[in-house]
Amino acid sequence: MNHVTSRTARRLDGIGTTIFTEMSALAVRTGAVNLGQGFPDRDGPPEVIARAVTALEQGANQYAPGPGIPALRQAIARHQQRHYGIDLDPDSQVVVTTGCTEGIAAALLALVDPGDEVVVLEPFYDSYTAMITFAGGVRRPVTLRAPDFRLDADALRAAVGPRTKLILLNSPHNPTGTVLTRAELESVAAVAREHDLVVVTDEVYEHLVFDDNEHVPLATLPGMAERTLTLSSAGKSYSFTGWKVGWATGPADLVAALLGAKQWLTFTSGAPLQPAVATALEEHGDFPSALARSLQERRDRLVSGLAAAGLAPYVPEGTYFATTDIAQLGWASSREFCWALPERAGVVAVPLEVFYDDPDAPGAGRQLVRWAFCKESDVIDDALGRLAAADLEA
Ligand code: GLN
Repeated sequence: MNHVTSRTARRLDGIGTTIFTEMSALAVRTGAVNLGQGFPDRDGPPEVIARAVTALEQGANQYAPGPGIPALRQAIARHQQRHYGIDLDPDSQVVVTTGCTEGIAAALLALVDPGDEVVVLEPFYDSYTAMITFAGGVRRPVTLRAPDFRLDADALRAAVGPRTKLILLNSPHNPTGTVLTRAELESVAAVAREHDLVVVTDEVYEHLVFDDNEHVPLATLPGMAERTLTLSSAGKSYSFTGWKVGWATGPADLVAALLGAKQWLTFTSGAPLQPAVATALEEHGDFPSALARSLQERRDRLVSGLAAAGLAPYVPEGTYFATTDIAQLGWASSREFCWALPERAGVVAVPLEVFYDDPDAPGAGRQLVRWAFCKESDVIDDALGRLAAADLEA
């Protein structure tokens, strides 16, 4: 859907409906199995849901404090300490946001002036490009190229110039599933220190890493705590993507700046879900690692099924998603493929080409497709059965 008419502001030029909404609507319309938008079809811990119900019934129904309720800010600070050894003052270094998406919006509005350049990993999560545009910034992509989607430190260095204001980093990376290694993160840190840059990191898949891969928050590297704004959320770690409870942590001045923008976006975030997320972090600390183990099995199931169906997959190190190349099936465009797929096979996936400035550059995504495996095993099997039975040649 195109929102731009003679009545709309120019900042909406080029900003259509997010691909996730588009593809979920396509799945509903066609009755296809939805391996597109990344949301689990099994909810998080029932005890956490019960805590939200209690909060609703016992009166947590008026505005929460602007930065979030103290119990949740303390739980977030303890989470960062427990997992990563990061020390935070819950009163000045933690803010609760309405999902990480609001954190991204508030961070960019708070830190980017018109004309400032933002260095960002490509393929980009689509809210990054929208919010860089809304802030008046200019994106400078650094491409994670197929087939291995690693960070090219030289490309990163080359993307930084005199107008660079910040680096927007995402690891584990959606959509490629890359988990940046300590060495790759060190190359980001070196550039940031050298050019005195702020880094905003989106770490929503922090706990959803597989095999021997390890999630390293950039803020833990030397000289980075004072210049890194770390964003995350409960959505992915606890299978509550619809709750929209996220957080920002970092140095007090950057967190205060983010809050300065956030107060004019949502004012404060939903009150009754905050005690429940505090309960999740404090009392269900093992849930995310168990989820990661189960997701790894489902990743393996999806990846081998896709290979059997002739869709050679790249094996992701983290996240909800696996990527395949459709070039060998004769398709020129992932968009065309994904729009044809419900009719061909009764399955929905997400075209990667919409996440690139130049999808035809070497190793970029014109012919790449993303498949979600955060679904129940029988749903994945159903989709794989349909793909195996379908004619997928262009
Ligand atoms: N993060 C989810 C995905 O990548 C989608 C979230 C959204 O639709 N905004 O599929």
